[in-house]
Amino acid sequence: MNIILFGPPAAGKGTQAKRLVETHNMVQLSTGDMLRAEIASASELGKTVKDILASGQLVSDAIVIDLIKANLPRAEAAGGAIFDGFPRTVAQAEALDALLQGRGAKIDRVVRLKVDEAALISRIEKRFADQGRADDNPDTYKERLAVYNAQTAPLLPYYAAQNKLFEVDGMGAVDDVAARIDEALSETA
Ligand code: ADP
Repeated sequence: MNIILFGPPAAGKGTQAKRLVETHNMVQLSTGDMLRAEIASASELGKTVKDILASGQLVSDAIVIDLIKANLPRAEAAGGAIFDGFPRTVAQAEALDALLQGRGAKIDRVVRLKVDEAALISRIEKRFADQGRADDNPDTYKERLAVYNAQTAPLLPYYAAQNKLFEVDGMGAVDDVAARIDEALSETA
């Protein structure tokens, strides 16, 4: 099974993806984590994307599509992928569909975590205080939220039209959200 965890920055996608990795035989494919690893290792790619991540803008579709493409065989071998933070544009979603189709696979479900904006902002303030991730500072976070609304939210109708979209309340305790996700994954489409 291949699923997409969908939602604005700080909706809890990474936390829930890690839990799903433990409870299901799946691999988490987080383009944000991959890009941060490139930056940490100071690779050429890392140098190219560093300032873009720091600004809260999106890196080019080609870069993230290549990263995903390189990791698909590994996810397939494990039994499926949890896409986290990808796709973020309609072009990425179309490329992902084509890549999967070429491998005789598809996206099975898109789980949308719904969290209200006030909760997102208070989560991010806490994460910034705890972890100090540069792009979690309040101004950059606002930019990331604006980018999400402008470029990523338009994917919702794309997946709704394919009858793949499952809405999950992302507010409240991690375990409660996890239980709701499990329910969405076991529901018949
Ligand atoms: P969050 O979900 O908390 O916003 P991510 O770790 O997914 O954070 O992404 C951090 C940053 O990495 C984004 O703001 C963007 O610059 C870049 N990035 C991650 N995934 C993508 C993607 N699919 N397309 C373009 N840029 C991406």
